[in-house]
Amino acid sequence: MDRYLSDAHVALRARVADFAREAVVPVARDLDANSTFLWDNYKTMGEMGLLGIPVPKEYGGQGLDYLSYILVVEEMAKYDASHAITISAHTTLGSGPILQFGTEEQKQRYLPYLASGQVLGGFGLTEPGAGSDSGGTRTRAVKVDGGYRISGSKIFITHAGVGEIFTVTAVTDPDKGSKGISSFVVTKPTVDPDRAKALGVGHRPDIGYMEGVRSGKKEDKMGWRSSDTRELILEDVFVPDGNLLGEEGRGFINFMKTLDAGRIGIAGLSLGLAEGAFETALRYVTQREQFGKKVWDFQQVQFRLADMATELQAARHLTYHAAWLKDAGRPYSREAAMAKLFASELAMKATLEAIQLMGGAGYSDEYPVERMARDAKVCEIGEGTSEIQRLVIARHLLREELEGAAA
Ligand SMILES: Cc1cc2nc3c(=O)[nH]c(=O)nc-3n(C[C@H](O)[C@H](O)[C@H](O)COP(=O)(O)OP(=O)(O)OC[C@H]3O[C@@H](n4cnc5c(N)ncnc54)[C@H](O)[C@@H]3O)c2cc1C
Repeated sequence: MDRYLSDAHVALRARVADFAREAVVPVARDLDANSTFLWDNYKTMGEMGLLGIPVPKEYGGQGLDYLSYILVVEEMAKYDASHAITISAHTTLGSGPILQFGTEEQKQRYLPYLASGQVLGGFGLTEPGAGSDSGGTRTRAVKVDGGYRISGSKIFITHAGVGEIFTVTAVTDPDKGSKGISSFVVTKPTVDPDRAKALGVGHRPDIGYMEGVRSGKKEDKMGWRSSDTRELILEDVFVPDGNLLGEEGRGFINFMKTLDAGRIGIAGLSLGLAEGAFETALRYVTQREQFGKKVWDFQQVQFRLADMATELQAARHLTYHAAWLKDAGRPYSREAAMAKLFASELAMKATLEAIQLMGGAGYSDEYPVERMARDAKVCEIGEGTSEIQRLVIARHLLREELEGAAA
């Protein structure tokens, strides 16, 4: 991987590993069991700069490349996927659209809070009737004097409860289909003001909380259990003109671009999960003895681990290459979809394989692989299901074929 990684990348990854071993591993199991948001480590991750890796320094971020951010997410996911998705959803989905499509005023206003981890961010696209078909958005923004009145509901929103700054889509012109969808920045207080205040994060009334924005009941999920997922409810919210994000009618296309970038993050997260499961299983089988020898000594066990190692290397290449393309300013939508598809399906396969290789120990919460398997499943669903990744890739294939035929 030397082709992609500089000494600075390697050092950053080592810093994350040290933090994860020291502060994440001891709490991950309990946070998962109790479905508790990782407030303490969120604060530390902010102090370490992990919540603003690719955000320019002028907006309070670290000003590092996208590959650095992917490495942070990957490394964290080796130890706990909920910590990794907190970084990922906050960075690419929360800060990303403001950084990419915001006005200078919006960037100055929101990014320093987000990039420093003072305030958690999120992204509201999915609705009850608009999941994979996110162009079917029903949330409505009606133009009024000085702004818009927005009503609707976004579901499965990461950080909807704990977070305070969100980018959301809403229909401004119902006659124009997906070209009638715009995006906005909305704000609300955290659901946990006492905890946030005690830690000295969140709860920043100076970001201007909007009346009518609130979160619904917390989802009780199979995985990513210490990540906060809820409905984000918008009830006749007055959103000033200054909070329209990008041009009117560009919300759908801009959010699709945000998801292209986000998918590399989910690929990195999936890769980290698969690596964590692989390493745990490898360590176990080289120590565990049955029939008078190490489990590793059965050749079929070696072959299974050899296959996993090979697929991990392939996922690493796909993921780092997509990040490299993004950093180089080249098109990366197809490669992001391929990386996300391959790495998320590998995460599911590798975590289940790790459980099998470890037998009953793998199935119990004595080892983290059962949690990793539960955490892996959603990687095949969030930010576009595997089926949607295949659709995206197929569309690129057709476009390239037609362009080739026309040339
Ligand atoms: C833990 C978690 C966190 C999330 N966080 C966020 C967030 O922060 N912000 C946000 O906006 N959303 C978020 N989501 C929502 C997520 O992006 C959606 O769940 C996902 O896009 C799928 O939509 P859906 O659940 O409505 O499934 P559906 O779209 O109803 O899909 C159901 C099934 O039909 C298949 N399908 C649908 N259309 C097609 C097609 N054209 N061809 C083939 N198969 C198809 C799907 O692949 C899937 O297998 C989150 C979801 C989860 C579970």
